[in-house]
Amino acid sequence: MEQNAWRERLDQADMVLVGLGEEFDASCEAAESEDFQRGKLFLKEHDALWLLPGWSGYCAWKLGKEKTETAVKKLFELFRGKNHFAVSVSTNGRIQDIWGEERLVTPCGNARLKQCSACCGEQEPIPLTGEDHNAAREFFDRLWEEDPSLTNPPGFGTCPCCGEPMICHNIYAPRYDERGYLKQWNLYTKWLQGTLQKRLVMLELGVSMGYPSVIRHPLERVAACHEKAYLIRVNEKLPDLPEELKAKGTGISANAIDWICKLC
Ligand SMILES: [Zn+2]
Repeated sequence: MEQNAWRERLDQADMVLVGLGEEFDASCEAAESEDFQRGKLFLKEHDALWLLPGWSGYCAWKLGKEKTETAVKKLFELFRGKNHFAVSVSTNGRIQDIWGEERLVTPCGNARLKQCSACCGEQEPIPLTGEDHNAAREFFDRLWEEDPSLTNPPGFGTCPCCGEPMICHNIYAPRYDERGYLKQWNLYTKWLQGTLQKRLVMLELGVSMGYPSVIRHPLERVAACHEKAYLIRVNEKLPDLPEELKAKGTGISANAIDWICKLC
């Protein structure tokens, strides 16, 4: 099918569910950069992989990689006036900046929040302060410049309940505090309940098998049970739909970012 036909199908939908996958991570754009890989190794060696989403974004910005960000902006413009919801397993913080939080849930982390590293259960994830952002930025600058005196990741304060360090809120945290996305998740499931009897188009973009229970499997289930639902799966490596869904959707073998750039 031509790109216009997909566009038409999306335009005619009453509701659109967007699934954003790992292909949207800034680490994909920065992957070939030696500087990025060197920094990633530093974070790994210092038990600070929770800084990886931030570091990926910083490197993509330094390297002038803007394709993913452009694609997300185009996609948001396409759906902003539409009854839609987006679920993202990407840890790319720019998605939150562009999409806002109202119609987005990010179960793999929120770039605006920090959490107790011990996940003590007393303190829920809270917003990073301006000071935290400055500390991260200064750290990334020094990591990029290979400052030999750089020995430790930046501190984001301590947990007011147990005194352990606060760290970025994402799946790279040694103990990820799932409470950080529950409110949005509840909104999302309520929204999903309201899609019955509506023409629902689900656009699954670049979702790998990393967290199949968050996007891939639920979208397949909705396509199977929901009379008026249609699933468009765009994926470079795993575009296939299960045999029983062939009439309820299409798998497109393409890079999701390139596909969006042609769609909008
Ligand atoms: Zn704590």
